[in-house]
Amino acid sequence: MTKRAIISGGSIGGLFAAAALMRAGWQVDVFERTDVELAGRGAGIVTHKALIEALQAVGASTEDLGVSVQERVAFDKAGQPVARIDYPQIVTSWDRIHQLLRVLIPDDRHHLGAHVAGYADHGDRVEAVLTDGRRVEADVLIGADGFRSSVRGQMLPDVQPEYSGYVVWRALAHEADLPAEVRDAVFPHFGFYAPTGTQIIGYPIAGPNNDLRPGHRRYNFVWYAPVKAADLADMLTDASGHLHHISIPPPLVRDAVITAVEAQAREMLPGPFVQILAQSERPFFTPIYDHASPVMAQGRVALSGDAACVARPHVGMGVTKAACDALALARHLADGPVEEGLLAYSAERVPASKSAHDRARTLGRFIFDDSVPNPDGRSNPRLDEIMRTTAINVA
Ligand SMILES: Cc1cc2nc3c(=O)[nH]c(=O)nc-3n(C[C@H](O)[C@H](O)[C@H](O)COP(=O)(O)OP(=O)(O)OC[C@H]3O[C@@H](n4cnc5c(N)ncnc54)[C@H](O)[C@@H]3O)c2cc1C
Repeated sequence: MTKRAIISGGSIGGLFAAAALMRAGWQVDVFERTDVELAGRGAGIVTHKALIEALQAVGASTEDLGVSVQERVAFDKAGQPVARIDYPQIVTSWDRIHQLLRVLIPDDRHHLGAHVAGYADHGDRVEAVLTDGRRVEADVLIGADGFRSSVRGQMLPDVQPEYSGYVVWRALAHEADLPAEVRDAVFPHFGFYAPTGTQIIGYPIAGPNNDLRPGHRRYNFVWYAPVKAADLADMLTDASGHLHHISIPPPLVRDAVITAVEAQAREMLPGPFVQILAQSERPFFTPIYDHASPVMAQGRVALSGDAACVARPHVGMGVTKAACDALALARHLADGPVEEGLLAYSAERVPASKSAHDRARTLGRFIFDDSVPNPDGRSNPRLDEIMRTTAINVA
């Protein structure tokens, strides 16, 4: 008899798990709480060999995946290059990966506006319980519902995301809007600015509708900036005075918060990055949290992607880690009892996730290393290590 899986969460991790399980012969239903397709959101994603192989393994196209960058270049406060290394890599967008996976899932198996509140594991089957009262039965439930996962909340209530003390501001600028000197010197590269206490990385990605033509692409601006927990509360408060827990939807960020960060950017960042920000669509921020679950399965229920473990974005592993989780799930569930397969899955993926999580924390600590005066990004004692180990596959 065909086995049935329910996946809570229809972002990249959920779609990857769905596509991998479908190829292993499972009938899969994806429940996504958002009631519209997730297309058109998100910014840049770095790819790794493992991600490209995982896309191919689930039958997704990898043609026109993104923009090829050849070099990593670090700049100083004056906007001058201070270090270069060769590191060819394809950089793409969240949208592109989402779109490549979404077409693999039949519409009648992809349920929008379906919010999983919890589950009941009956031993021989599991029931997902939806907030609208529906109870849906399956052989396995996968919690791919992100870092504030309801499934993890029930399975491992003690595992809570921890605030790191800094946020990431992201913005996208259209290539055509950038001054010629920024287009020439900064745009084509995977760029860094690494003085003590803050950090920029940035790279080109496709334009809207995956437009890869020169002149039509966008620059993905990523800025790590320290924010004390008390100040974070103000940034997370919307214009009506409502304080959002953990993160705030970008359209609700108050204009005053955006104005303040633009002023801070003019003071702290090299000219080319200030110009990129000035030409960007409205920037948005995400507080950096992380967590690592000690197990990724219990009974007939598994966790994958960010629900299981969030590695800070320095390692650029969010999507690749979710992809590797999906392939491992499908492999361990290909035959044999579900519970045994999930135990083997957890044993394989917990150490891999933890390694990405720990490496990302180390890279985060490097931002605030003040052992050597480095006010302008020229004297970072770890610059070479940062450039060689940021956004590489570590799991
Ligand atoms: C809209 C969006 C844009 C993103 N953009 C970027 C980006 O630009 N760069 C980057 O590096 N990373 C981005 N990410 C994060 C990146 O997708 C993840 O790190 C990685 O893909 C692993 O994600 P995930 O699928 O495990 O979790 P997530 O991407 O967090 O997805 C979890 C999904 O589960 C849904 N969900 C949550 N709770 C429930 C519930 N109880 N029931 C049903 N559904 C639920 C959420 O709506 C969401 O779609 C983005 C995530 C989202 C959702």
